[in-house]
Amino acid sequence: MIVGIIGGGQLARMLALAGHPLGVRCLFLDPAPDACARSVGTLLIGHYDNPRFLDRIATEADVVTYEFENVPASSLKYLAPRIAVRPGVEAIEVARDRWHEKQLFAELGIPTPPFAAVDTFEDLEAAVATMGLPAVLKTRTLGYDGKGQRVLRAASDLAAAFALLSGVPLILEGWVPFVREVSVIAVRGLQGETRFYPLSENIHQGGVLVQSMSRDRDPVTAMAQDYAQRLLGRLHYVGVLALELFQVGDQLLANEMAPRVHNSGHWTIEGAQTSQFENHMRAILGLPLGSTEALAHTAMVNFVGHLPDPSKVLSVPGTHLHVYDKNPRPGRKLGHATVRADDADSLSQALGQLRSLSHC
Ligand code: AMP
Repeated sequence: MIVGIIGGGQLARMLALAGHPLGVRCLFLDPAPDACARSVGTLLIGHYDNPRFLDRIATEADVVTYEFENVPASSLKYLAPRIAVRPGVEAIEVARDRWHEKQLFAELGIPTPPFAAVDTFEDLEAAVATMGLPAVLKTRTLGYDGKGQRVLRAASDLAAAFALLSGVPLILEGWVPFVREVSVIAVRGLQGETRFYPLSENIHQGGVLVQSMSRDRDPVTAMAQDYAQRLLGRLHYVGVLALELFQVGDQLLANEMAPRVHNSGHWTIEGAQTSQFENHMRAILGLPLGSTEALAHTAMVNFVGHLPDPSKVLSVPGTHLHVYDKNPRPGRKLGHATVRADDADSLSQALGQLRSLSHC
C-alpha cells in the first residue's frame, strides 16, 4: 500500500514510521529538499501544487492525506477525482481559514470566543468597540504556532497591529481568560466508527505548544468529545482530527481544529494502545481502528529551537526521545520526549526534569 502525503515535516515522518510495520510506503510532496521525512520514504521535491508530482501521486498512491492545513485546496481538488483524499477537501477549506472555522463551530453549536472579521481599520475599531480589550488580531489564513497574531491590550495598540498584519483578511477574537487549554484527538474510520483518545492538557508559550499531558477521565471529556463528534459527522470525516479548546470555568470554548495528526497527540506513540499516527493510517486505508486507551500517565515535552543532550533526556526514568532530523533554528520544533509513569507524582517529577532540559 502506498500513501501520498502532502508535506514532508515531522508529522509526515511519524506517519510513515507508524505505517511501516503495516507494509505502508509513503510518497511525500514538499518544496524543501531537506524535508525531515526524506529518510523514511520517497520525497518529491516540489511545491504543493506541482501538477507533475500531483499526477505521480495520483498514479502511484492508493490514498492521499496531508500533514498541515495550509495545503492549497486547489491541489486536493485536482487530486480528488482520481484518488481518495482523506480527510476530505472540505476539512482543509474550513481549517485553513479561522473565520470559516469559527462559522462552522457556531453552526454546530460549539461555543467559541467572540469573533469578528476584520478587513479595514474601521472594521477593527468597530469590533473592539463591541468586544472590548484585551483581544487578539489574527490573520485568517496561514497562521500557526502563534505566528500572524498580535494581542491588543490598549486602544493605542490597534494602529500598529493593523499595520503589521493587514493586507490579508483578518479576524479579531476576544481574549479568553482560560483556566487551562485542552485538546481532544479523535479518529473516524471509513465506515464511521469513531474513537477518542483521553484528553490532552496543553501548555503553550508564545503561541507554541511546549507540553501536553494525557488526562484519563478528565471532567470535561464528554463535552470535548461531543464537540469533536459534531465536526466529524458534519465533515464526513476520515482520519485523525484534533480540536483545541479553552476551558473557562467548567465550560469549553473552541479555539481551532486541525484536520490531521496533532502535536498534542504525540504522547500517544508510547502512551496509548495505538498511536494517533497508526490510527490515522488505519482510518485512511479503510482498516479497523485500534484502541485509543491510555497505557499509563503520559506527558510530552517539545524541544523547540535546540535539542538537549540525548543522554540527559534518556536518563529521566520512563522517557522516550524523538529527534526529527531538522536543522536547528530559533522557534523550530526539533524533537520531543515522551515520559510514562505509573502514578501522577512520578510523572510530574519526570516532567519537571524534562522541562528544565528543554530550556538549557
Ligand atoms: P492559535 O494559533 O490561535 O492556536 O494560538 C496559539 C496560542 O495562543 C493558543 O493556544 C493560546 O495559548 C493563545 N491564544 C490564541 N488565541 C487566544 C485567545 N483568543 N485568548 C487567549 N489566548 C489565546
